[in-house]
Amino acid sequence: MEIRPLAALRTADDLSLAFNPYGLGGRMEPEDAAEFQQRQIADCDLAAGVAPGTRDSFERLRTVFAYGVLCYDVYTVVGDHALLIYEQALRDRFMEWCAGTIAFRVSQAADVSYTVTSYDDVKKHADRMTRRRAKLVVGTDAIEFNGMLHGLRRWARTAGLLRGRRSRAVEEALAKLRNHVAHPSGHHVDTPVGAARTVRDLAELINQLWGQATPDGRLYPAPLHREIAVLSWNTSGRTRMEPAGALTAPDSLDDQEDDEYQHLVVRAIPFIPGSRWNDEHWAEFDTRYETTRFPTEYLWGPGTRAEARAWLDHERPEGDSVDFTDRIFLVQEHERLLPPMRPAVAAGLPDAERIGVWHAVRADFPDDAFAHVRGSGDRSTGHARRPGDCPACSAEILGSGTHDEAFRAAATALGPIQAVRLPSVRLPSSLLWPDRP
Ligand SMILES: [Zn+2]
Repeated sequence: MEIRPLAALRTADDLSLAFNPYGLGGRMEPEDAAEFQQRQIADCDLAAGVAPGTRDSFERLRTVFAYGVLCYDVYTVVGDHALLIYEQALRDRFMEWCAGTIAFRVSQAADVSYTVTSYDDVKKHADRMTRRRAKLVVGTDAIEFNGMLHGLRRWARTAGLLRGRRSRAVEEALAKLRNHVAHPSGHHVDTPVGAARTVRDLAELINQLWGQATPDGRLYPAPLHREIAVLSWNTSGRTRMEPAGALTAPDSLDDQEDDEYQHLVVRAIPFIPGSRWNDEHWAEFDTRYETTRFPTEYLWGPGTRAEARAWLDHERPEGDSVDFTDRIFLVQEHERLLPPMRPAVAAGLPDAERIGVWHAVRADFPDDAFAHVRGSGDRSTGHARRPGDCPACSAEILGSGTHDEAFRAAATALGPIQAVRLPSVRLPSSLLWPDRP
């Protein structure tokens, strides 16, 4: 190989300088590029309890990432190595979880336990027990577990350490990439953008494994804050969303005493310009169906602006926070497919409205649940029709059949469901969910 002098090793790589805050195109100064690239992963710190081995590997990765400015190949190395740390983190977390003892279940026999002091011990037992068709005991479940990445992923989900439906699809993709890195079959080059995203995803995954969700995270987001909002609409189809303070603040010059508007008070994700979590479907709100993207809670209405203000002044409701991942929806199919419904609302339906086929689906968003049920009508799309994770999308099927059957499947996952009966109110204009009775 060619021996390069120190000065050359210290010189910025032209390829790395071509990446700037606006994508490819302009060329950055080396100092700016060094700072810009490090900032991409500067804020993804690990939670306090993370195992030392995983932490050391992750910090090393962040250190090396900075050198990508001098050598573009570093980004590929960082992206690849991040995928190996993914498995290391699962192993380290497994060792903490099992606290030195793992148990296997063989049918028709008592569980067998082993003492383990390292992950090599775990693998040795898992390997042998898999050949005897024994399953690893995880809480009240028993799962196939061969000690490899696939088994570790199943264990982490069964133990309840990882959550979210869309994140599960990303875990699946990371596992495929990890296998590609461990057994490369071709040439690939990572960009600073791709490498930074892999490092950020890895930080989110490690933190979630150790019980900490990521504020504003992409994979395992912390619960979102909801505020009190007023939705209103008039007969010509105009809709508005305002914070409750716009009506009640002492110094508010609320001159919108417009009688043709109807008002609702809800708890909703506030609109913040540029936020990843704005609810672009807020104007689809419907008390009967989950037509907004994030959970929106009906509190009062409809009524005039003065009535809404009086109610707010008297009740003074407050914001809260919600976890929107892993929600359970019921989708009714009767002549056509209807929008997803909350199980609590479905529980309050009169018998006459329980007709048709019902599907209980776990998903992060109502549109995910709806798209899955629609897709599962056509076998060629590959959507699962039986209970379990759908291989074609990020939904999990819990059950389907009559209203009672689907409802029971939902209740098995959620526990007892309290029926709610809300006044039937919706905003009138709808682009996304026009097909509602
Ligand atoms: Zn599906």
